[in-house]
Amino acid sequence: MHEAEDWNAPFENVRPLDVLAIAAHPDDVEQTCGGTLLRAAETGYRTGILDLTAGDMGSRGTPELRIEESKTAARHLLAAWRHNLRWPDARLENTITARMTLAGVVRRLRPGVVILPYWTGRHPDHYRASEIGYEACFLAGLRRLEEDTPPHRPFKILYSSLYANVAPSFVVDISRQLEARMAALLSYTSQYGDSSEASDLFPSHAEVRERLASIARFYGNLIGVKYGEPFVVKETMQVDDIVNLPVRSI
Ligand SMILES: [Zn+2]
Repeated sequence: MHEAEDWNAPFENVRPLDVLAIAAHPDDVEQTCGGTLLRAAETGYRTGILDLTAGDMGSRGTPELRIEESKTAARHLLAAWRHNLRWPDARLENTITARMTLAGVVRRLRPGVVILPYWTGRHPDHYRASEIGYEACFLAGLRRLEEDTPPHRPFKILYSSLYANVAPSFVVDISRQLEARMAALLSYTSQYGDSSEASDLFPSHAEVRERLASIARFYGNLIGVKYGEPFVVKETMQVDDIVNLPVRSI
């Protein structure tokens, strides 16, 4: 874990990010794209996480506690920045205010890559976060949106598809990052308490580890590595060198 900068600083004072993951709830990125964020950070990129809600409808813990836990988790992932907008949990709405607020954040953080939840799913917050995130990234590129910030549109939008059961456009090898991602997720001690408190709703550590590792193993297998995280992009991926393509065909 490393010492991060002041995450409570106004958005204006945050140095631009290379990668920004936008998620509905604290602990979403830890389950879906945390290994990829960590790997990007290890490569030297500045990564950030923006959670839209603090999980105030959750039956365990308090929003304040979850935000504290999310900061611990972010340090496991070597994130340079994490913030929570504290929008209403389980009631996310794609309003003009939501889009404009998020567009303002994107203009200030200036990420080159934005990771969003996949655009369909069981939990309405996830697909709403995906939609609000996409539309905010579009709006952020409009010159006249705000007077005091220059326009910025991320170059790339990746949809984190781990829970979507769709064929990924690509998979990131997170074999060396899985343990740290697991530690990040288990930082949410109010959600993933010890096994004596385990119930159907709050599985034990062993259960969480097995479930996460199995899913990561499945996606890793698709590219011939141990553990992986899947992503979907809407545009076609370009190839320049057909002789040096990864992933064996036969
Ligand atoms: Zn969630």
